[in-house]
Amino acid sequence: TPIISIRDLTKTYANGFSALKGVSLDIEEGEILALLGPNGAGKTTMISIICGIVNPTSGVVTVGGHDVVKDFRQTRSMIGLVPQELTTDQFESVLNTVSFSRGIHGCKANPAHIEKVLKSLSLWDKRNSALRELSGGMKRRVLIAKALSHEPKVLFLDEPTAGVDVALRRDMWSLVSDLRREGVTIILTTHYIEEAEEIADRVGIVNKGELLLVEDKAKLMGKL
Ligand code: ADP
Ligand code: ADP
Repeated sequence: TPIISIRDLTKTYANGFSALKGVSLDIEEGEILALLGPNGAGKTTMISIICGIVNPTSGVVTVGGHDVVKDFRQTRSMIGLVPQELTTDQFESVLNTVSFSRGIHGCKANPAHIEKVLKSLSLWDKRNSALRELSGGMKRRVLIAKALSHEPKVLFLDEPTAGVDVALRRDMWSLVSDLRREGVTIILTTHYIEEAEEIADRVGIVNKGELLLVEDKAKLMGKL
């Protein structure tokens, strides 16, 4: 059975704008899915609904068999979200930022796990540094560490490499493949076709609130 199931999902915002117009999709455990599409396509809306941050207008989404609206506590505890922007306190230390993150999941982190995550992201030596002392790349790593602090089964990365240089992009891509080796299911949004090509198993193309196509990467790249 798929770890995430999305059926006939729609979202019309309070201002009347239809951001999602009936999306259905299954995501298998352990896969890396890239949602590719231009700005405004509805990618962030889709992941915000799966993460339980935005309510759908209609349709059903389950994570690990639980409904993301009715059972949001259970589903949030299975999910880590890496947002586009760092919104945490820049004067706080790396260790505190990651440890005291409740984020969207609302559960407490285990110190031994935090140490492992910080080491795996090469952040352990910087654990006492304030975020504002870190480079842009290190700050992105902190966001990932925070999202992994409660050992999620599913990780969402919203535009992980928007506005980063080539070296950092490569770095992010290798981080994603390390996580997949640990069995984490990964969904990322991107508007870079090279990014989808480099790291995803499957690619979904989103445009104007619709999922136009979902295909194995190899097949899709043959068509483009
Ligand atoms: P919901 O329908 O989920 O209740 P709302 O329409 O009330 O969502 O908007 C939620 C938040 O998003 C509000 O704080 C609003 O200011 C903000 N928002 C409104 N329009 C946009 C937009 N075009 N893009 C991004 N955020 C927006
Ligand atoms: P993407 O992540 O693909 O860029 P989004 O899901 O952020 O797309 O946005 C899809 C569309 O929905 C955009 O046109 C955006 O302005 C609009 N939108 C996003 N949030 C809100 C909101 N809270 N209220 C009204 N419109 C919104």
